[in-house]
Amino acid sequence: MTIQDTLKDLVAIDSVSQRSNTEIISYLATRCEAAGFTTKKLPYIDDAGVEKINLVAQTSVSDSTEPASTIELALVGHTDTVPYHPAWIEALRLTEKNGKLLGRGACDTKAFIAAALTAIDSIDLSKLQKPLALVFTADEEIGCLGARRLARARPFTARYAIVGEPTSLQPMRAGKGYCLAEITVRGREAHSAYPQIGASAIFRAARLIGRIEQIAAELKQDQRAGFDPPYTTMNVGLIDGGTAKNIIAGECRFTLEWRTIPGQESDYTLNLVRQAAADLQQQDADFVCEIDAARADESFETRADSPLVQFLEESSGKESGTVAFGTEAPSLIDLGADAVVFGPGDIRVAHRTGEFVPVDQLNRCVEILSRAIQHFCK
Ligand SMILES: [Zn+2]
Repeated sequence: MTIQDTLKDLVAIDSVSQRSNTEIISYLATRCEAAGFTTKKLPYIDDAGVEKINLVAQTSVSDSTEPASTIELALVGHTDTVPYHPAWIEALRLTEKNGKLLGRGACDTKAFIAAALTAIDSIDLSKLQKPLALVFTADEEIGCLGARRLARARPFTARYAIVGEPTSLQPMRAGKGYCLAEITVRGREAHSAYPQIGASAIFRAARLIGRIEQIAAELKQDQRAGFDPPYTTMNVGLIDGGTAKNIIAGECRFTLEWRTIPGQESDYTLNLVRQAAADLQQQDADFVCEIDAARADESFETRADSPLVQFLEESSGKESGTVAFGTEAPSLIDLGADAVVFGPGDIRVAHRTGEFVPVDQLNRCVEILSRAIQHFCK
């Protein structure tokens, strides 16, 4: 089967995150079993009551001294895609235009999955000395939920993992974390002609936001090379408060987002904000604020001298970099792996109508993955 036929099959299966991914998982399980892998399905029911499956396909290595649950190299691809606009009538039909293959998921991340399936077809698995796994996850696009489950379930540990995402075949060895909190500051409503009988939640929120701006400035001192910008950033993206121009605001809510550099716990920034709120309360006993830390996606970093980073730098001819978007790499690191994000296609065209993967990158990815398997699992 050509790689284009494989990608065509994958794109034809609608695997938008909201739907069950059982259909694409059966396709992948069949392909992996035909290639000689043992497959294991790890199903779960998502919050909407829909069945989702993570699939682990691995080679069995009889004469290994290590337990079979230790994988030498894992190739990881998420099976779900973002939704597509109904007007994009060819979303599920792979189309070729000027050396590009278009379709929903063609770039993110079915291109990588097709490359991995094609790479294993070209290799005699019985000659591999060390275990290889193909890992297919669910619910990546809605918060890497499948990979997180996998990390908790620990069906295997891995030494090296290539996490498929469109990076234009540049190995990405680190990424910032993403954290979000909803902050609600309370005050006391009153007629605005009599401020002495009320307490403005908006003035209070403004004081806290002023402190947050100071924290953001302090965070610039802690720098990590290779990131743009090289420090943890903060943003107050939304603010909403008060009910009318002549009422002292009783409540003010805002969102606080921060993107952490590796080596800095997501709680570090959160604790600075909590401390600022505690300081404000010392000055104003009435100051009440709730900080609801809604999300904390970890940063990740694999050392520049990791054999996987070096192998991918050499074979792609590109120096390793850092990613600005969330990936499943932290979960693979939890599973013991040196994880690198790598794959064909450009993230800037992903999630758009007409997303595509260039054919030459797709073919190049097969070569690199084949060499990686032979290099690490021989
Ligand atoms: Zn993706």
